[in-house]
Amino acid sequence: MRIIDKIYIDGAFVEPHGQEWAPLFNPATEEQIGTVRLADAQDAERAVTAAKRAFPAFSTTTKAERIDMLKRLHAAVSARAGDLVDAMREEYGAPSTFIDFAAPRAGNVFLDMANTLESYDFRRHIGRAEVEMRPSGVAVAITPWNSNYSFICGKLSAAIAAGATMVIKPSEMSAIQTQVVTECLHQAGLSKGVLNIVTGYGNVVGSALTAHRDVSKVTFTGSTATGRAIIQSAAATIKRVTMELGGKSPSIILDDADLDVAIPQVLSAGFLNSGQACIAGTRILVPEPMQGEIEGRLKRAAMAFKVGDPADREVRIGPMVSRKQWERVQSYLRLGQEEGAVLLTGGEGRPEGVDRGWFVRPTIFSGVRNDMRIAREEIFGPVLSVISYRDEDEAIRIANDTDYGLQAHVFSSDPDRAKRVADQIEAGRVIINGAPHEPLAPFGGFKQSGFGREFGVFGLEAFLEPRAVIR
Ligand code: NAD
Repeated sequence: MRIIDKIYIDGAFVEPHGQEWAPLFNPATEEQIGTVRLADAQDAERAVTAAKRAFPAFSTTTKAERIDMLKRLHAAVSARAGDLVDAMREEYGAPSTFIDFAAPRAGNVFLDMANTLESYDFRRHIGRAEVEMRPSGVAVAITPWNSNYSFICGKLSAAIAAGATMVIKPSEMSAIQTQVVTECLHQAGLSKGVLNIVTGYGNVVGSALTAHRDVSKVTFTGSTATGRAIIQSAAATIKRVTMELGGKSPSIILDDADLDVAIPQVLSAGFLNSGQACIAGTRILVPEPMQGEIEGRLKRAAMAFKVGDPADREVRIGPMVSRKQWERVQSYLRLGQEEGAVLLTGGEGRPEGVDRGWFVRPTIFSGVRNDMRIAREEIFGPVLSVISYRDEDEAIRIANDTDYGLQAHVFSSDPDRAKRVADQIEAGRVIINGAPHEPLAPFGGFKQSGFGREFGVFGLEAFLEPRAVIR
């Protein structure tokens, strides 16, 4: 049983003022594996005070000094990649396909940001004005449970590069992963107060931070509903906000797509991170005449997706993070059938042969209309909807007929056609034929998937303010 009883403020692991404890679970076994003592509003105050005190010196560090810090952070996080893997598997239940990407990436985001910084010019001239990009002040990062240390490291890398000090409030459900990554970050030897991490409840610590008058920037990853509350709270003091919110991403299979390529990619995108991914491609748009063939292939391929113990490297779908999340997904499985959709594969209950753990049967609904709730709401589990379309224009219309706009996939064997369709999709990222990850490309949403961008130069500038001196 792990006991996590410290938070990280001013360069040290300290006892929280908060007295509340929360249990931590292994979602694959439902066993309690630890407890965490949570920070409270007073701890949030201490963390902001430390970050504010550190800001004047940190904001005047040179680019070379900050590149050096980013490299130290990369080394410190990479050195414990094995512990990060173990923590994510035990506390979160992510399958190897996800962890193999997430764990190395937690360290690599610091190197990527160091590379961005190398070629970034903080000063430029516009007519008579000398424009300097200045760090925006004390920043707060609020992160979800579904890829704990990726978000912590991604947001921290941009703050360090910009010269902003930071208070991070991770999800209270990921305290073991947070503990491991905090130990890594501590090893990098940043100056006191540059980084502070206070795990606590959103409505206690999160809201104290987003309302704090000494905080000038909030970067948030989480649900659209929480994002809305944070924007309202941040509005009182006109904070800069970056919002990385939910999604209901379309995967458009065009009629000339190579199905041998498209089908595995569509399912990997849909079942990504056991379906607990903001970018999951949960709406599969298929040409009407090919619906039968595509559904047959999807069904066969989905049935081959192994569900179960995430320690098994063959497993592609792990458990839901919590009982609450499991129940939420079950309610959507019922709702889909009530709405008239047909189960192609999967359905309610645990997968066959599994008698414990918050496992869901990988599910694909057929006969879905885009106005059904299962096609409009983020389910955050391995539940996909097949929606048929008559022609390319209708495919694009359905893809864009959503409140969200985070990511989309297009599959076609004609690159020009795929690009033409991609250009018409209202989403922050469109991926053609499962193209590989591009770490410096901007990431973020259109519409209610949020605003602002992360990674590369766009992510760096989200922590900077231009100041023009004219003479
Ligand atoms: P959530 O919105 O419930 O919580 C996210 C974080 O916000 C947690 O740390 C929580 O404690 C905190 N929080 C809750 N209420 C708060 C408040 N009033 N003030 C301040 N902070 C508050 O999300 P979750 O369930 O942890 O994560 C899943 C959601 O995150 C999904 O909707 C998913 O789409 C989204 N997400 C988005 C991205 C992206 O990059 N766009 C990435 C991953 C997850």
